[in-house]
Amino acid sequence: MDSRSVNGRGKNNSKNIFSKKLVCGHCGKGYIKSSLSKNGRRYVFYACGQRRRLGTCQNKSIMLSRLESFIKPYCDGKLHEILNSKKTDLIKWIGYSISLLEDKLNRVDYNKQALRTRITEIEAIVDTLIQQLIESSEQVKKAISRKIEQLEDERSKLETDLHSYDVVKIKAEINKLNETIHNINKSSTQKVFSIEEILLFVESITIDNEDLKIEFNFDKILPGQATVKDTLTDLLDKFKSASDEYKSVLDQM
Ligand SMILES: [Zn+2]
Repeated sequence: MDSRSVNGRGKNNSKNIFSKKLVCGHCGKGYIKSSLSKNGRRYVFYACGQRRRLGTCQNKSIMLSRLESFIKPYCDGKLHEILNSKKTDLIKWIGYSISLLEDKLNRVDYNKQALRTRITEIEAIVDTLIQQLIESSEQVKKAISRKIEQLEDERSKLETDLHSYDVVKIKAEINKLNETIHNINKSSTQKVFSIEEILLFVESITIDNEDLKIEFNFDKILPGQATVKDTLTDLLDKFKSASDEYKSVLDQM
């Protein structure tokens, strides 16, 4: 019912701000802009490209005014709310990363020692295995070679971990994360957005007859979100391997 009137500024309507955002929920093709004049009025609407070109899709077209009223609540505060909840989550994640790094920093000497101990241990085992290799039958040789391979793999992982215990690098990483939190807090506190501004964050609006589904992409405004998650996953992985694999070594110390 809100789809009958389109404001009369005909020339402004040529701005195709919804271009590439509208997706047909039936065939997956994009929606394309059209207009028709009736009783001296110009109606702007979008229609499924597949339907227009081939007539093989039955999804309905949608009036521009309907799209505008669908976006309106996001302009008036809904996007601001979504952004704020994203920020809160992000800051929480980063804070967690920082505490892991600080923990790592506190344990640099201890963990380095544990890693070195295990590396020395592996080297000794590999030496013994190589001795045995010379005097073994073919079948046993295969088994021993496999074991040596596994140990060498473990050793190279441990060496990588050892390199990650770099105080300067860890401190730099912590500083960078603190700075990110600062920047996120500082970033826009904008409450009201224009439709154009909203659409910058919109990945797609899927149309399924009368139903509209909006999807956002926040990577553009909250750069580093993916990076933060990667860093954290990486850290968690490292700490997990440290606790599982080197626990016995640490216990012995
Ligand atoms: Zn379609």
